[in-house]
Parts: sequence; structure tokens; C-alpha cells
Amino acid sequence: MDTNPMLDIKERAVALLRRFYGYTSFRPLQLDIITSAAERRDSVVLMPTGGGKSICYQIPALLAEGGVTLVVSPLIALMKDQVTALAANGIPAAAVNSMQTEEENRHILNQLFTGRIKILYISPERLLTEIEHWSRDLPLSLIAIDEAHCISQWGHDFRPSYTQLARLKEIYPSVPIMALTATADRLTRDDIAAQLRLSDPALFIGSFDRPNISLRVINDPGRQRRLGYIAELIDRYRHDSGIVYCISRKAAESINEALCGMGYRSVVYHAGLSVAERNLAQDKFINGDVQVVCATVAFGMGIDKSNIRWVVHNNMPRNIESYYQEIGRAGRDGVKAEATMFYSYGDIITLQGFVDESGQQAINAEKLKRMQEYAEASLCRRRILLSYFNETMDHDCGNCDVCLNPPQHIDGSIIALKALSAIVRVSGNVGFSMLIDILRGASRQDLIDKGYHLIKTYGAGRDLSYREWNSYLSQLIQLGLIDIAYNEGNHLKITPYGARVLRERLPVTLAMYKEPERRKSSRGKKVVEKEAELKPAERLLNELKEVRVKLARKEQVPPYIVFSDKVLLELVRTEPTDMEAFARVEGVGEKKTVKYWKPFVTAIRKFKGIAEPLGTGLSHDETLLLLNAGYDVKGIAATKGIKESTVYQHIVSLIRQDKLTDFSSIITKEQYVRVMTLAREDPEGMWEKLNKEMPYGLPQVALAVSDFLLRSKQK
Ligand code: ADP
Ligand code: ZN
Repeated sequence: MDTNPMLDIKERAVALLRRFYGYTSFRPLQLDIITSAAERRDSVVLMPTGGGKSICYQIPALLAEGGVTLVVSPLIALMKDQVTALAANGIPAAAVNSMQTEEENRHILNQLFTGRIKILYISPERLLTEIEHWSRDLPLSLIAIDEAHCISQWGHDFRPSYTQLARLKEIYPSVPIMALTATADRLTRDDIAAQLRLSDPALFIGSFDRPNISLRVINDPGRQRRLGYIAELIDRYRHDSGIVYCISRKAAESINEALCGMGYRSVVYHAGLSVAERNLAQDKFINGDVQVVCATVAFGMGIDKSNIRWVVHNNMPRNIESYYQEIGRAGRDGVKAEATMFYSYGDIITLQGFVDESGQQAINAEKLKRMQEYAEASLCRRRILLSYFNETMDHDCGNCDVCLNPPQHIDGSIIALKALSAIVRVSGNVGFSMLIDILRGASRQDLIDKGYHLIKTYGAGRDLSYREWNSYLSQLIQLGLIDIAYNEGNHLKITPYGARVLRERLPVTLAMYKEPERRKSSRGKKVVEKEAELKPAERLLNELKEVRVKLARKEQVPPYIVFSDKVLLELVRTEPTDMEAFARVEGVGEKKTVKYWKPFVTAIRKFKGIAEPLGTGLSHDETLLLLNAGYDVKGIAATKGIKESTVYQHIVSLIRQDKLTDFSSIITKEQYVRVMTLAREDPEGMWEKLNKEMPYGLPQVALAVSDFLLRSKQK
């Protein structure tokens, strides 16, 4: 059984990982973190979203013989999801929060220490009130504090209620605390440990690299092209979903309307909606009823959906932390995902306005600058991101637009000259788009009203498109030749360096503008690929997704709770055609094997043209699988939803078929001897007596064991 003291923590942890999650190995750091918790040491864990933090406190909860692991989280919406996911894997968990009735909450709290709940999710506010009534020697195995950066004013998401969590160490000095976060710079990290009063915590810093997410930044190609780009993504991942992040509610509404108008299933999400509207939108997204959500930054906290395949930033985010967190919502299952960001000077101007209004101007301005540098980079973007998080990477990633499509350089001296002299001629009184219009000789009314059509450089840049000018002007700003006067209506000004370039005709090198590549589908006309045109693997994947959706509907859970995309891909790769093969698939734990193997294996067999039906006696095999996995008879009965006596019947026939040869966990020596004695002494009355003394069905097991022992002697 899994509590055999002979196995050490590490072996037991691996066994639990296989049994409950169906994973074969831990990711880097996970086992160290688990061990440190099992040794009752405090810890601070930094890992990116999708890095696998949950397992770090869930496995210690399972390792603990008794007691409860508390998980403090501000994300109430996420709790339900986590509890459902745990239950789907056979782990008893519950949540206490304001989304449930007080009656439900009380009920859970009342049975908290009866051993029926291993993991409790609770909001910080609620925990702080409850804890005052709890006895000081409750069996708490661990307190995990998720989103721990909320405790620090340095972080980007400070929550005052978190600071009260310092009480935990006062009340339960010997209960280990694990503080977890996806974003924390050094300052925040130290602050977390100090504020929680952790004693000599172990520090674990995971890699922030998410190599499965491809990175791309596109200099604003205009609204129509952005929409076209998003439409292509939806088409390409038509069974999956994505997020479009927008800078404002208005922008989110407008993109949503456009996408709906093109016939896509889209919803909008922002803080201006009512709670009910927001919940509805979120549920639709989680359940896969819509393909895309157009949202502001308000969306995403509490989204644990593992099969988000793409994220588009319709506008540049305000800092790299937010950007990284938002793109990190894609591809949490580790399967290929895409992150694309559009950015324009309009965004930067808007964001600059936010900075000026914010409380911490200097810090926020610096953060915005770093974000902009990322957007404008001509180096591997992943290297820039990782270095922002103080992680070094010694090679280019090969999965970002810069790596895949290195910029070509051109002599930009003439371009610079035209732009700079145009600025001089309008005395630095125009903004970004007006300058382009002047250079391109556009006939906009306000341009003519101001008399700009009369200056010498009017139309001097006609040979370049608006998008080309957009790119080159941006580069001239990056190069420090031009500056944006945020305090003067965002007008473009020549810097002293720009003035020198103009005066001395210094050479300027620019990265050649490239049209963003267009993919085959086009806006409005959705390509409905015929199933026959798909590769076989894609066809099977689609079939398995259908199976998943049906099961999810039946159980009223989101599809990814049944299986993540990654598991479906593994099923496509390995094509298991029986239960045993199914059970071996990465990401398939025991509970899910028993629950789901039939529908999936049936679909795979049908796909492979295996005509013969699934054999009989399957239920016995399931029982055998669970026995081998360490379940006892009670557990098997509960997992399969059958009577214990039926499980004993299975055991009897498994023993008869020589499939089961270790009975130690099923019947004790005393029980066996008792049955055999009565069988000798009182064959008539034995059943009546035995049925009172031991579970119904167990005496038959004893007889089968006895036959088995005889058979083995004869061999
Ligand atoms: P986080 O909380 O850090 O954002 P999660 O705990 O939700 O990340 O994990 C992200 C995904 O990675 C989940 O689908 C999880 O099941 C998977 N995962 C975690 N640990 C492992 C592992 N050792 N092997 C395979 N998959 C894992
Ligand atoms: Zn790269």
C-alpha cells in the first residue's frame, strides 16, 4: 500500500504521481519542493504559470498520513476548478469561499478534520476568521499560500488581506508554509518570506522558460489586418480557443463585435460587465462553447484551462510581468501554442498616460520602457524575457519571430533624412500619424487646414506605404533620433542626436520592413476543412475531442478536466486498444483509467478498423488494475460505484485465473485461518457464522486462495 514506511519519501511521491496523475516523472524542482515540505520546512517557490506548482503542495498532502493541507488563494473562481480536477483524479478536496452558501461552507468546515478532506482551498479572509476558533493542535500537514506575491507592496497585485497571513506562523509555528508565486522579483521574493515570518525558508526558483509558446511581435498593421490575423488563428485552431487582450473595454467590445460579425463564436470580458455577465462569459470560454474571448487584463486570473492554444495582444501590455503572465495562459499543457503581440505608438501613448496617473510613476515608467524595448527588439525575444526575470539563456530560442525571420538591414539614411526634415518644417508640432500622412502626401482636411501640404517634404515619402513608414519611424524613435513629447500632445521632436544626424548626414541603418506573413485562410470566409483532407492523426484527435466533449457534458465539467490536450495527443500517438495500454498513457491516472478507458479505447478501435468488440470480463481487469495500484476493496467499490461483495467476486475469479497471486492486502492471515478452520469443523453452519464476522464475499476469497495454494503445490 502507499503508506508502506519502507519506501522513502521520494519513492512514495513518484508512486503517488503515477497513481493519481498518471505522470511518469517529476519536472525539475518538484520533487525537491515536495521533499522539503514533507520534512516540514518552510519554502518559497517561484515557478511560471503552467510550471506545475499545484503538484508541489498536492503530493505532500497525499504523503501526509493524516491531517489537512490548506491552500490559501485569492482566486475564488479557480478553487472550484481545482477541486473538480482533484476529484477527477480521485483526491478528496474541498473549498470554502463566498461563492458557496454559508451552509455548504459550514458543512465542509465541520468535517474538515475527520480525515475525509485532504486538501482545503480557502480565501485568506475566511481562513483568518476561522483560524481564531481552531484549536492550536489541529493536524495541519501544510499551509500552501498561492499567489504569494499578493502579500508584497512591491508586487503588482498587492492585497492588504494577505499581510494578515503573518498570523499563521504565530498560531501554528510548527506547520510548514509553502509560498508560491509565478511572478516575483528579488524584492518581492524577500518580502514574501519576511512578511509571512518564514523561518529559514528553502528557496526554489524554477525556470521561467515556456519553450512551447512561440513569440511574435507585429508592428501595427492596421485594424483590418489584425482582425484577419485573429480570424486565421481561430480557423487554424478551430477545436480550441484563444484570448485577445485589449487595452480598453471599448477595444474589447469592438473586436468582439467584429469577430461575431464574421461568424465566429466570441465573447467579451471586462470589469465593466456585471458579475453575472462576466461569469457567464468565463464559463462559456472554459467549457469550450466559444472559440475566443476578447478581454481586458481583468480576464485570466482564475483561468486554469489547459488547452488555450493562442493569445493575441491587440495592444501592448503595460509591463513585462503582465505580458508574461498573459501569454502564459496559453499552452499550459505543454503543447505548442502561439503568442502574438501587436503594438503601435498609439498604445505607448495611452500606456504613458496610465503611468502618469499611477501612484508609482518612476517604477511604472521604467517597466513600460522595458516592455517597449521587448516589442522593438531585434534580438531573440525569449532571451530578453528570460533576462528580465534574471534568468540567462545561452542560445537563441528558435521559436520567436526574430529567430525564425532575422531582420534584414537596409541603408535608411534617406528615410531618416526625409522624416527629420519634415519634423523640422512643421516645427515639431505634429504627432505620429500626421507626420506619416505629410510624408505620404495625404489629403486629410486638418493637414490642409494647417497648411502642411505646402511644405517641401509634403509627399516626399510617397514611395513607402503607411505600414512601412510606421515601422521606420518607430525605429528612428528606438534609435534615439526622434522623441515623443508626451507632455506636448505626443508631438514628435528631434533629439540632439537626430539633429546631428541631419546636420552631418550621418548614415542610418534600419531593419527592412516585412509584411506580416499571411496564411492561407482569409477573413470572413471560414475554411471548413473537410475531414477527409485532414491527416489521419488530426482526424483521430478530432474524434477523441468529440468523446471528451460528450463525457464532459455528461459529467458537467469543462472538457480539460476529463483530459488535457496533451493527453489526447498522447492517445493519438500511442493508440491504446485495451485498458492496460490506456492506463500506461502519460497523464492517465488510475481513477481516469477506470472511468474513461472504454469510450476512448472504443473510439480508437473504431478508427483503426478493429472490428472485434471489446472482450468480456473487463470489469475484473479493472479491479485487478486497481488492486495492483494499491486500492483496497472499499476504495475499488467506491471508485467503480459497485458493491464490495461484487469486488470480492471479481477477486475470486482473478485468483481462479491465476491473475492475482498476492492476497496480503485483501485478507489477513487470521481471517484465512478462521475460514479454513470452520470449513473443516462446521461446513454446514460456516456461512452464517462467517457472514457475521467478516465482509460478505470474503470467505469465498479464502476458499479460492486455498485452491490456489493447492494448485501451486502440485506444479
Ligand atoms: P501552475 O499552477 O504552476 O500554473 P499547474 O500546476 O496547473 O501549473 O500545472 C500545469 C500543467 O502541467 C498541468 O496540466 C499539470 O497537470 C501539468 N504537470 C504538472 N506537473 C507535471 C509533471 N511532473 N509531469 C507532467 N505534467 C505535469
Ligand atoms: Zn528566439
